[in-house]
Amino acid sequence: MSAVSTCLAPSCRTKVEGTVATCPACGGRMRTPRSVRVAGWVLLVCGVFLTGLMSYLWQALAPSMANPGATAGGATFTGTADQAQAIVTMFGAVIVFGLAAIAYGLWMIVTGRRSIAMMIGVLVLAALLIGIAWRTMAVLPA
Ligand SMILES: [Zn+2]
Repeated sequence: MSAVSTCLAPSCRTKVEGTVATCPACGGRMRTPRSVRVAGWVLLVCGVFLTGLMSYLWQALAPSMANPGATAGGATFTGTADQAQAIVTMFGAVIVFGLAAIAYGLWMIVTGRRSIAMMIGVLVLAALLIGIAWRTMAVLPA
């Protein structure tokens, strides 16, 4: 299962084994395993950043949000338990999305290929995340 280069022209889509920058059929640019790996790294870095940031915020905010109105961990969460729940759910969703991005990024780096199934999975998670974020915004005071 060696990686392939795929022609970027929608009407061509010629696939060639290995890293080929120029399409042998139409002379257009091709997506090479190398560029897939670069995209994989970008996705991996984004995933690590999102997951790390949310884990950090979770750690910093969870103690105070678990006890609304009380001071815990040096911070006081003044919202309601429902709001705390919504925020924690959103953090969880972002972390799941980040982990999915890491998984797909690693897949692209290791194989040099794209995966339609994994890409759809990441997009579905992104849609879910937007839905959850939307709900969270609705619950929180403006
Ligand atoms: Zn082509």
